[in-house]
Amino acid sequence: MTARMYYDNDADPSALADQTVAIIGYGSQGHAHALNLHETGVDVVVGLAPGSRSRALASEAGLRVMDVSDAVKAADVIMILVPDTAQKAVYDAEIAPHLRPGQLLMFAHGFNIHFGRIDPPGIVDVGMIAPKGPGHLLRSVYQAGGGVPALFAVHRDQSGTARARILAYGRAIGSTRAGVLETTFAEETETDLFGEQSVLCGGTAALVKMAFETLVDAGYQPELAYFETMHELKLIVDLMYRGGLNFMRFSVSDTAEYGDYVSGPRIIDEHVRSTMRDVLKEIQDGTFANRWIAESDSGRAEFNRLRQADRDHPIEQVGARLRAQMPFLNPVEVQAGQVQAAASTPGASR
Ligand code: NAD
Ligand code: MG
Repeated sequence: MTARMYYDNDADPSALADQTVAIIGYGSQGHAHALNLHETGVDVVVGLAPGSRSRALASEAGLRVMDVSDAVKAADVIMILVPDTAQKAVYDAEIAPHLRPGQLLMFAHGFNIHFGRIDPPGIVDVGMIAPKGPGHLLRSVYQAGGGVPALFAVHRDQSGTARARILAYGRAIGSTRAGVLETTFAEETETDLFGEQSVLCGGTAALVKMAFETLVDAGYQPELAYFETMHELKLIVDLMYRGGLNFMRFSVSDTAEYGDYVSGPRIIDEHVRSTMRDVLKEIQDGTFANRWIAESDSGRAEFNRLRQADRDHPIEQVGARLRAQMPFLNPVEVQAGQVQAAASTPGASR
C-alpha cells in the first residue's frame, strides 16, 4: 500500500484566510510554527506564561504575545507546543475553560490525546500537524524555500472545516512543499516514540557510544575514535538523506560496503529485533508513557541522573575539544540544558 501524499496544490490557504492562530509555547517547534505562519501571512498570536523568558524573543521577532488564556480567546486555531509533559496542566488551567464551538485544537505530537491525558469537549475540532524534524530545521528549511515533511491527522471534524484548516496550516509552515502524509493520533504517537527510541535518539546514541568505548578500551586514541564513530556519522547520514542506503553504498569504498553487509547484521542482530519488538509493545500498551509521566511528575530524579551521566561521557569531553578547533562546524556546547557558546546558527539559540 502506497500512502497518499498531499502537496501545496492539495492545501487551500483560504481555509485560514480570516482565522487567527494561537501558538502556545515558543520553544523548538513553537518559534518555527509561529514565524513560518507569520511570514506566510497568517494572523498569529503567541500564548505564553506571564513570566516566560520567551516573551521577549517572540516580541522582538515581530509577533503578538499574550497570556495563554487570552491567546485562546483570540484564536480560531490553537496549536499546543509546550512540552508533552506540561500540556495537560496548561490545557486544564488555561485552555479548556475558554474553548468555544468552531475552534480547532491542534497538536504536533499525539501523546496527550492518544494516552487520554487531554480529552477535548465535543464542540471543538481536534487535529495534528507533526513535522518530521526539529524546530530549528522547520524554520531554516522554510526560509531556504523548502519544507520539512509532516504527518497530519484529523481526530475530530465537528465543524466540517477541520481537514481544510489542518492542510492549510501544513502549507503555511512549509510542510506541503515536501509532502504531508495522513495518519491517526495512535499511529503517529506510537511510531514517533518508537523511531526516537530505536534509531533517531536512543539507538544511534547507544551505538555511537558503544563503538567509541570499544575502540578506546582496546587502546586506540580517543580523538581518533571520536572521528570514526561520531564525526563521520554526519557524512554518512547526509548521503542516506539524499539517496538512501544505495547512495551511501555507492559513495563509500567497496571494502566499507562489504563490511557493511557482513558485519552490520552481526552488530544489529535478531536479539536487537526482539528487543525492538519489546520496546514497541511497551509503547503500544502505555507502559512507557506511564513511566515517563510518573517520572516527570515526581521530579525527574532518574531523568536528571541519566542526563548527567551521559553529559560527562568521555566522547563528549573529547568531542567538545575537537569541535572547538573546527569553527566551520558552528560548534555549540550544551550545559545544564542551555546552549552556551553558540555561534550564529539559526536555531542554535532559540
Ligand atoms: P520545547 O521544550 O522546545 O519548548 C516548549 C516551550 O513551551 C518552551 O520554550 C516554553 O516557551 C513553553 N513552556 C515550557 N514549559 C512550560 C510550562 N510548564 N507551561 C507553559 N509553557 C511552557 O518543546 P518542543 O520540543 O517544541 O515540543 C512541543 C511539541 O512539539 C511537543 O508536543 C513535541 O512532542 C512536539 N514535537 C517536537 C519536535 C522537536 O523536534 N522538538 C518535533 C515534532 C514534534
Ligand atoms: Mg519525532
